[in-house]
Amino acid sequence: MLFSRNSLLQSENEYLYGEMYDLVEKLFPITRSITGNGVRTTLEDIQKRLPSLKVVEVPSGTQAFDWTIPPEWNIREAFIADSSGNRIVDFQDNNLHVIGYSAPVDKEVTLEELKEHLHSIPSQPDAIPFVTSFYERRWGFCVRHNTLTALGPGTYHVYIDADLEPGHLTYGELVFPGETSDEILLSTYVCHPSLANDNLSGPVVTTFLAEWLRGLGNRRYTYRILYIPETIGSIVYLSRNLKKLKKHVVAGFVLTCVGDDRTFSFLPSRRGDTLADRVARCVLNECIDTYDEYAFSERGSDERQYCSPGVDLPVVSIMRSKYGEYPEYHTSDDDLSLVTSAGLGKSYEIHRRCMEILEANRAYRTQQPCEPKLSNRGLYPTLGGKEKTQSIRDLLDVYMYADGAHDLIEIANTLGLSSEKCQSILDILVQEGLIRVAEE
Ligand code: ZN
Repeated sequence: MLFSRNSLLQSENEYLYGEMYDLVEKLFPITRSITGNGVRTTLEDIQKRLPSLKVVEVPSGTQAFDWTIPPEWNIREAFIADSSGNRIVDFQDNNLHVIGYSAPVDKEVTLEELKEHLHSIPSQPDAIPFVTSFYERRWGFCVRHNTLTALGPGTYHVYIDADLEPGHLTYGELVFPGETSDEILLSTYVCHPSLANDNLSGPVVTTFLAEWLRGLGNRRYTYRILYIPETIGSIVYLSRNLKKLKKHVVAGFVLTCVGDDRTFSFLPSRRGDTLADRVARCVLNECIDTYDEYAFSERGSDERQYCSPGVDLPVVSIMRSKYGEYPEYHTSDDDLSLVTSAGLGKSYEIHRRCMEILEANRAYRTQQPCEPKLSNRGLYPTLGGKEKTQSIRDLLDVYMYADGAHDLIEIANTLGLSSEKCQSILDILVQEGLIRVAEE
């Protein structure tokens, strides 16, 4: 049986989206934090797909603007046992059970003392919360509220076998050079333990976008792709690369929460009208029926650093369910059942389309005053009909905005045409020698 090109494409895409889900599943069990071996293992796995990913280690204690890289954290084992030695809470069952960066502990405690070190969510009694304490030394466990309320009086053995020692902050960096030194930045983070939408969807979709970019024949832009721990990682990276990024980055995307199958969310840059904002809105308006647009004041990931005054990069975030806005966020319910291959795949397509448009986005100039005589070029129909009239109208409309000031995104937006349609008309006008790319 023969398959149509469309059905072949569809099955190729489904295969690709399935591979994305498989990578989320593979990385899911790893205990990650803002430093430590979990980040290294995750980056090693990504290197299997992207061997040119460079892994950088920056020592604990290194100053980065107002921040200092904390000690490195690695955990081996943790549990709470009752007086009979039964493990009521065990890190082996779920790595969310220990607060991120917990100090080591090994002692007997009363129920009252234990409760001071337990975190739960009374309104979601079956979910384990994700809690961290990166910059204040403490020990603690995160438990289902149902577990907490079932604890009886008595003594408990609390045990956390973890290191908080001078070490390194680890991040990954990948650069694909293009024809120009102007850059597109893709930034994602690799610092959450077993959590799927926030956060494994981000590095996984980024990895597949990187593979697509690697295969692009002639890239116009240079692409810089970062896998960092959130907040401290972007601050450290900016402290080492600020001048370069400010000079070259023309558009950037923070990839986070791109794995579930709910409504898309858009977080603009602080300036709100950068090239990244324009292309993101263009693609969202064209490719999906509806999305939620947030204000920059509702930011929450690394755009907090990239868009801060003094850095001021054109960076936006296109998400599915936005961090902080969905019930499973930062709990054990943000698991492998929340992300789907279709959810990951659509996020991949949206970001890929943004980059396709950025690659094609140029301003053009007409080559002579007044309207061109289209019939000289076989572009004017000899027999008029409604449909033909509209296509001629579109062609002349696009021509009217080849003024050197309007780029593809702006022409499409002004005329209410799709970027694809607009691009095909611009291609015809270029082929006919009626317009040329304006000097940049
Ligand atoms: Zn998070």
